[in-house]
Amino acid sequence: MAKGTLYVVSAPSGAGKTSLVKAMLEQDSEIVVSVSHTTRDMRPGEVDGVDYNFVSMDQFNQMIEDADFLEFAEVFTNKYGTSQRWVETQLAQGKDVILEIDWQGAQQIRRLMPDCLSIFILPPSRDVLEQRLKGRGTDSDEVIGLRMSEAASEMSHYPEYDYLVINDNFDTALKELHGIFLSQRMKIDRQKDHYHDLLVSLLS
Ligand code: GDP
Ligand code: ADP
Ligand code: 5GP
Repeated sequence: MAKGTLYVVSAPSGAGKTSLVKAMLEQDSEIVVSVSHTTRDMRPGEVDGVDYNFVSMDQFNQMIEDADFLEFAEVFTNKYGTSQRWVETQLAQGKDVILEIDWQGAQQIRRLMPDCLSIFILPPSRDVLEQRLKGRGTDSDEVIGLRMSEAASEMSHYPEYDYLVINDNFDTALKELHGIFLSQRMKIDRQKDHYHDLLVSLLS
């Protein structure tokens, strides 16, 4: 079976990457998203094992020692990391895998897996970004202040990515994001594997 493609999606906090990725997964069963490990506190409404695997700092450090992470980074005073085994299993099964990770993690993944494709999501303005962080209602004013002060530095990394999506109108951004995955799937190398029997019969 052909291997799936690894995608990295980054955005400043509040730009809408989690909502867009979730909506895309509801439309497309060939795409899966990696559930990161994090040391940050659980937000109201988040579920352990679904939104993140919530772990203590000791557990996180043990996972680093055991080489369990494909990448890890410190973001907004918390640690976040991607499980290597899970990602490799999904890719081997032919799934497209999304990592929703920050720019530091994206740099590590590009070095390890140069065939990955990376997508940056930006909000239509700074004001809208702040309104979305406030409107989400999950973070304290202090945490929102920290995230807004880091936003410009996070956003400055957009030129390192392959694709840029502006999340102004949600449905438009969702179509643009999904379009990247669909066009990648139509590439000859993948279609050759997927439609092997059809192609043989058409040419016989
Ligand atoms: P949100 O982006 O506002 O929903 O905030 P989160 O607390 O969910 O994520 C905080 C930051 O950590 C974001 O920049 C994420 O992209 C990043 N992040 C999440 N998981 C990972 C991971 O496994 N590895 C890395 N490197 N970054 C991660
Ligand atoms: P991120 O994962 O990038 O931090 P979220 O997906 O949590 O961002 O989105 C932040 C907030 O903005 C959420 O409350 C979400 O419902 C809202 N949101 C996302 N995209 C849009 C959009 N295009 N228009 C209006 N609100 C949006
Ligand atoms: P939040 O705490 O708001 O869910 O995420 C904050 C930031 O951490 C986001 O920018 C998110 O992309 C990033 N992040 C989440 N999981 C990971 C991860 O596994 N690795 C890295 N490098 N960043 C992550």
